[in-house]
Amino acid sequence: MILNDFVQIDEKGLYCKYGDFYLDPKLPAKTAVITHGHADHAVSGNYDVYCTRATASVMQLRYDRTAAKVFNIVGFNEPFTIGKVTITLIPAGHMLGSAQVLMEYEGTRYLYTGDYKLQPDDTCEPIEWVTTDVLITESTFADPEVIHPDPVAEIQKINSIKTNILLGAYGLGKSQRLINLISTHAPQKKILVHHRIMPINAIYQKMGIVLGPHQIYGRKLMKVQDEFVYIVPPFTFDSYIRATGVTRLFASGWKNLQVNQRDTLFISDHVDWNDILETIARTQPKQIWTLHGDGRHLKAHFNNDIFVKLL
Ligand SMILES: [Zn+2]
Ligand SMILES: [Zn+2]
Repeated sequence: MILNDFVQIDEKGLYCKYGDFYLDPKLPAKTAVITHGHADHAVSGNYDVYCTRATASVMQLRYDRTAAKVFNIVGFNEPFTIGKVTITLIPAGHMLGSAQVLMEYEGTRYLYTGDYKLQPDDTCEPIEWVTTDVLITESTFADPEVIHPDPVAEIQKINSIKTNILLGAYGLGKSQRLINLISTHAPQKKILVHHRIMPINAIYQKMGIVLGPHQIYGRKLMKVQDEFVYIVPPFTFDSYIRATGVTRLFASGWKNLQVNQRDTLFISDHVDWNDILETIARTQPKQIWTLHGDGRHLKAHFNNDIFVKLL
């Protein structure tokens, strides 16, 4: 039997009272299951944290001593229990170490996706599929209007740009994917990386991910035009607004985020509408609960076929 109140949103975030734990709490919690290291999912100050090794490494890098009181490092597909809930982390394909959270309680399966993507990405574990009774999915791009382009075609656009490029991107996950994509599909480019991104690269490399050739940015390097691509976090990107002699691009799944559409590489680490439909086909839920975004399109789409609840 599906329990309608198995997870509920309170002031700290998504809470499961049957196991007394939070999923990606937004405020510090006593017990937290954390899907991945992005700051909107992994806050500091939790007491007991259950997560993958990569997620713990990222949190320790960012938060140091306040990352968690206790890290319980869990491998993918290795069930553990919190209270009477059996939990299994399943690869989510969003960034290195990102996990879906399968929760089993009294014979019913609830799958919280966290952030996830279906596109291939050599810098993280590919998404894996399990069936579930309830699919609790993010709905950031759950709109039939949102269809993400092929990331390879997007990255190949930089081959026709002969000036140096300033490429804005989130430092965690996206930057590493870009280094990998550029070195594969635009190998003549010389990749420079902002110093704040380098420690994250080190975590990836330590975990066996091959990013491709890159070096830390040095002030003198970009003075010459040599097909350099300088990858910088959003804050730095904004501060280079008047940079001359470079083409400014921002890599994002969002339209009109930092710069106009012409200057955006549409490379998303989230599912688009078709990906969500595929996810639903593969996980075969009886119910879909949505959060992060707008679940109304899904509700309309499945109408009477699958019950859709907006959390
Ligand atoms: Zn994320
Ligand atoms: Zn997110």
